[in-house]
Amino acid sequence: MAQYKYLLEEKDLPTHWYNVIPDMKTPPPPYRHPVTLKLMTPDDLAPVFPQALIMQEASQERWIEIPDEVRDVLKMWRPSPLYRAARWERALDTPAKIYYKWEGVSPPGSHKPNTAVAQCYYAKEEGLEGLATETGAGQWGSALCFATQLFGLKVKVFMVTISYHQKPYRRIAMETWGGNVVPSPSSETKAGRDILAVDPETSGSLGIAISEAIEYAVTHDGWKYSLGSVVNFVLLHQTVVGMEARKQMEMAGDYPDILIGCVGGGSNFAGLFLPFIKDKLDGSKPDLRVINVESTACPSLTRGIYAYDWGDTAKTGPVAKMHTVGHGFIPAPVHAGGLRYHGMAPIICRLLEDGFVEARAYHQNAVFEAAESFARAEGFIVAPETAHAIKAVYDEALACRESGEAKVILFNNSGHGHFDLAAYDAYHRRELPDYALEEEKIQQALAELPQVPE
Ligand SMILES: *Cc1c(COP(=O)(O)O)cnc(C)c1O
Repeated sequence: MAQYKYLLEEKDLPTHWYNVIPDMKTPPPPYRHPVTLKLMTPDDLAPVFPQALIMQEASQERWIEIPDEVRDVLKMWRPSPLYRAARWERALDTPAKIYYKWEGVSPPGSHKPNTAVAQCYYAKEEGLEGLATETGAGQWGSALCFATQLFGLKVKVFMVTISYHQKPYRRIAMETWGGNVVPSPSSETKAGRDILAVDPETSGSLGIAISEAIEYAVTHDGWKYSLGSVVNFVLLHQTVVGMEARKQMEMAGDYPDILIGCVGGGSNFAGLFLPFIKDKLDGSKPDLRVINVESTACPSLTRGIYAYDWGDTAKTGPVAKMHTVGHGFIPAPVHAGGLRYHGMAPIICRLLEDGFVEARAYHQNAVFEAAESFARAEGFIVAPETAHAIKAVYDEALACRESGEAKVILFNNSGHGHFDLAAYDAYHRRELPDYALEEEKIQQALAELPQVPE
């Protein structure tokens, strides 16, 4: 009998997060101060993030213990299942062996609560009253609203305007978990008011929403800011995904030839691949391929440059060295809201520069075609972000059909698309535009990068 699912028990939940930084050939360079552009100190970050997270951000420890209180909450849905996509393999008539880690089983429906829970724990430990954040498609906001109420914290969510209107169900979920949600840009912050004064009809962007959330956090006593992707500590918290997957792949008797994931800020995919890329960094698996998949509407890894840039539009957050299309870049309103961030996790960018990972970008119609093929075979209707990963798996599986190779492919199925069905509807009606992105727009945005002294 075929086996479709590889399941771990609650006692198998990882006890430690894996910190890749001590194992990297070159670690990502430290952050710069948003105004002075000088090296940022932990003191500079203190008004923004809880202290424990600032320590994790710069930690040189390879293994960091997961607090029991965090593991206790993660057990509500973890360990998550690993699936063999046997029906999809048959549908694609490919000799490839396709596996996926299914993160859609969390209450908010994505990988994002893996870090939200940890961040809330440390915020509570520090005695904070609330956390402010931004959200694109609403997955991160949902994850934080879900987690804050479990720890008795308040939450304020700045939601990118286009998603606020395109995805009302996410807002309703956030409000059900007790969150206070406003469309961004809003009139509640100076950053928001400045943008609205110039362009009252703007569809918003994650960069703007981040500026608003940081401003809100530093101007309210007992509040700090919470970020759902990009920074080192978020990637760290997501490594539970890859730690579990390693055990599950062992149960299946396979080791991946190719790892695939979609990247917005890079957290879900890094969470899966970092515990595996350890084997490539130490030379034991030199041929492991790691494919980061982004949207052609926001191609930071494939068309951006590797440079210092602000993490947010109003230039109030840390300056990081990363692949960026520019902090002022406002991407086309593709449905994969979570892939519309101008930058990328500095850890992934450094690994790309050093040749340990690769990157590609897809247009949304091709992406939904692959997601539909997956849904018809495997049943799960995935998030538009995840659908980008599925398109890459689809292409690699068809390449195996051509070459006759039985490669082992593992991808991160980062979340369900139950609140994104309007996107599938638009695809069915052939109303989804494939945005042609003008090089000029990227060049314009790149002209505004900070001049950082090396
Ligand atoms: C937010 C989100 C993403 C993109 O963010 P990353 O930090 O790159 O993981 C991808 N998939 C889903 C389901 C998401 O909610």
